[in-house]
Amino acid sequence: DPRLSVIRGTIREVPNFPKDGILFQDITTTLLDPVAFGHCIELLYERYRDKGVDVVAGFEARGLIFGAPLSLRLKCAFVPLRKPKKLPGETIGEAYDLEYGSDRIEMHVGHVKEGDRVLLVDDLIATGGTMVAGIKLMKKVKAEIVEAACILELPLLKGKDKLVEHDVSLYTMVE
Ligand code: 5GP
Repeated sequence: DPRLSVIRGTIREVPNFPKDGILFQDITTTLLDPVAFGHCIELLYERYRDKGVDVVAGFEARGLIFGAPLSLRLKCAFVPLRKPKKLPGETIGEAYDLEYGSDRIEMHVGHVKEGDRVLLVDDLIATGGTMVAGIKLMKKVKAEIVEAACILELPLLKGKDKLVEHDVSLYTMVE
């Protein structure tokens, strides 16, 4: 699909961010280009429009940017997965390790219901720790996971294998 190389061409690599030795994949340059940003949303829409998605769940921070417009396109609910103490209502959460430290995601209780078909969205998968926390959180509330979707994958970090261990498949656009 020629749209994939358009998307790839907009991603900027920033050396030594957020710390020395890390080559950060920056998607803010993709957001500057409505054609490339639009391709990201349309590729996701085309893949999931017939999959009966009830909820798009997007990870703070950059998963919110891609997840929210996709949910509008799919005409389904959007649920933000937030860092601790950001959400005002009663929350349910899951702790996880990430590439640089450890963290926790939370969502509002009752916003994903038993049996809901959930699509998990983030900008990038590295070790898969963040995504696995999302998977565990959705399983806690007995939701069904349609798939995990990211714009970018760092294949050397084998996040995909971690998802397979949890019986969730991964869709990504750019390696
Ligand atoms: P993981 O939990 O898979 O190791 O790391 C993925 C999470 O960290 C995602 O939420 C992603 O936004 C963030 N992340 C880690 N490395 C990068 C990177 O190089 N670029 C971007 N945009 N996000 C990253």
